[in-house]
Amino acid sequence: MKTKTTANSLSVITLSATLGAAFLLPANAQDTPRIDTSAAVASADWADNVSITVDDAADTFTFQSDGIPDHGFADKYLIPSDPTDQPFADKPAEFFDMVNSADYFVESPIDTTITTLPTYSEEVTDTSLGRIGVALSGAQIFNDYEDFERTVTAQDDQVIHDHVAFLDECNGHTLVDGSDYHYHGIPVCLTVRLDIEGEHSYMLGVLEDGFPVYANQDLNGAEIGSDELDECSGHVGATPEFPDGIYHYHLTADEAPYMIDCYHGEIEQASMTMGGGGPDLTGAATALGISTDTLRNALGAGGSPDFDAAAEALGISVDALMAVMPAPPQ
Ligand SMILES: [Zn+2]
Ligand SMILES: [Zn+2]
Repeated sequence: MKTKTTANSLSVITLSATLGAAFLLPANAQDTPRIDTSAAVASADWADNVSITVDDAADTFTFQSDGIPDHGFADKYLIPSDPTDQPFADKPAEFFDMVNSADYFVESPIDTTITTLPTYSEEVTDTSLGRIGVALSGAQIFNDYEDFERTVTAQDDQVIHDHVAFLDECNGHTLVDGSDYHYHGIPVCLTVRLDIEGEHSYMLGVLEDGFPVYANQDLNGAEIGSDELDECSGHVGATPEFPDGIYHYHLTADEAPYMIDCYHGEIEQASMTMGGGGPDLTGAATALGISTDTLRNALGAGGSPDFDAAAEALGISVDALMAVMPAPPQ
């Protein structure tokens, strides 16, 4: 008799665990315990070009990849001739260069270390231009914007001329110099292999604050809209990797922001100075649509860059360059 009930008890335990995950979550994100993501990160189905190193002692993982998405990309892309002249949607075809991605794309090695013990914070931090997270495909996650003023979202600024698009079918593209392939929307070419009909989306990547990010399927597989999420497009709930619940982000398809406008996890504020002592050029480079290396090379070494020469080297006006340059460190 007792042996017979064992199976029943087990199934009851399993059932209550499932129900618990769905219905007994704390109402407020700040009440959730800190969840260790290392097991989920380690077992995620990262692309072959990605190497993940979990450091249990430091509670971090390191993501390294060549930056090229494993799902492939479009044959051709539209590259704006002046990446600072948004919006692009109303520009004529002559404004764009049409490039063959096979010749144009360049590897953009990514090496970033992210916490596996994310901490929810009441205070939110705006996401910046440039990388805000990493995806299982080996590519980068950006926020929705193409400009510092956060007025032009890439998805709403989509342009297509002669069947060639600014954003590809994966909601991704590179910077104008062919580097740093990134997503401005749900990376559908990745989620098509991850998500299952009728289920919550599967983890597609991790943001820089350590919280996992998903496409737009809720626990029943129904589409989640932006209005069901908090100001950072997140909520607390069960996911396939975290059945007991975790704060997590959802990319959405219904309306802007399609991506993540702010971090709800603790994150080091972007510092004006980098290890080398120079200004952080990531945001400026992204606003110009070029890689940080390209901008740094144009500015040259030394303490007082020649902005006129740099602007000429980059093929833009000095005003356009100065508009995006960070203020000098105090
Ligand atoms: Zn972009
Ligand atoms: Zn969710």
